[in-house]
Amino acid sequence: MAGVAPDSPGAVLQLIRAGVAASRSDVAKSIGVSASTAGLRVQSLIDHGYLHEVGAGQSQGGRRPRRLALRPDFGVVAAIDLGSRHCSVALFDMGGTLLRTRSRPLRIADGPESVLRRVHADITRESGPTDRLRGITVGVPGPVDARTGRVVSPSRMPGWHNADVRAEMARMTPLPVLVDNDANLMAIGEHTVDPVEHLVFVKAGTGIGCGVIASGRPHRGSVGAAGDISHLPVVGKEHVQCSCGRNGCLDAVASGAALIRDLTAAGVPVEDPADVVALAGDGDPTVTRVLREAGRATGEVLATVVNFFNPDALVIGGRLSGAEAFVASVRATVYERCLAMATEHLQVRVTRAKHLAGVTGGAHLMLEHLLAPERVNEAVEKGL
Ligand SMILES: [Zn+2]
Repeated sequence: MAGVAPDSPGAVLQLIRAGVAASRSDVAKSIGVSASTAGLRVQSLIDHGYLHEVGAGQSQGGRRPRRLALRPDFGVVAAIDLGSRHCSVALFDMGGTLLRTRSRPLRIADGPESVLRRVHADITRESGPTDRLRGITVGVPGPVDARTGRVVSPSRMPGWHNADVRAEMARMTPLPVLVDNDANLMAIGEHTVDPVEHLVFVKAGTGIGCGVIASGRPHRGSVGAAGDISHLPVVGKEHVQCSCGRNGCLDAVASGAALIRDLTAAGVPVEDPADVVALAGDGDPTVTRVLREAGRATGEVLATVVNFFNPDALVIGGRLSGAEAFVASVRATVYERCLAMATEHLQVRVTRAKHLAGVTGGAHLMLEHLLAPERVNEAVEKGL
């Protein structure tokens, strides 16, 4: 909160959102101001729609203070999770509660202009006439430059290299738009349901990606490339060519797309990672073997990540996380290849945020953006 006065309305809202203060007297105590100053700050937040009073709080003797809370109906935010062959649109209230979600087939290969136009139409359709849409987060299944928001050299998104998603969306809406890699958003979404300090989220779907939470915050690295494990080499797979021009990359060996390629070549009819998971559920021996090998390759790469980063939780999400053969193989390989100290308190588990991890993270990112103290102060000053 650099540059934000601790007794400003934005800073006060932050205290209330964080559960540090729940009444006017809490606010006065927390920031060391008089009761009347605290009352003024709170009143301006109520007047601008950020806060409301929700009944009485705990009495410290005398009149029971009125409890303050963020107004969840202050607006809605939309989160988009773009996959290779599908798209999810979800709306959340300002408290981060999911209001509605819808998924539908959509081919990312149709290119940014067409895809984003349809996404925007979906958002417009989903948000009701009484909703006040305040921002949109778009998650894409490829690397995003954190400085510019541009998509950079994605593997299976033809036409998207250098795509400026924010600029494309700005042609359709004046609202703030955030863009991030889908695995980063999934890590953020998982962290909202399991707030451990250090978390690694592996998205194993058509592609393989990874998002990192370090010391409770998303870690994107210098330019946004942190966590991208898709082109790390798998030992013994040097004969497998990758779309990046190198050989033996994890994505080319163990992604859903790689499994579909290998299974199709073996005469197994699969088109989507969901087909692979369904066949594994039916006990298909070829599919189970291929998933185990993919889990092993993924586990080998993740063992290096775990040894280096020492997370509290290694969370597996994406479509392939529905296949026990894959998950068990990742887990076994990580425990086998890691130092005992690195795995002493490590949880290796399937996502708790499930298929909503990405949109939950997208909504959370937008809420942090919209409710950042400096932005709230600006809105209060300008009377927005
Ligand atoms: Zn590669």
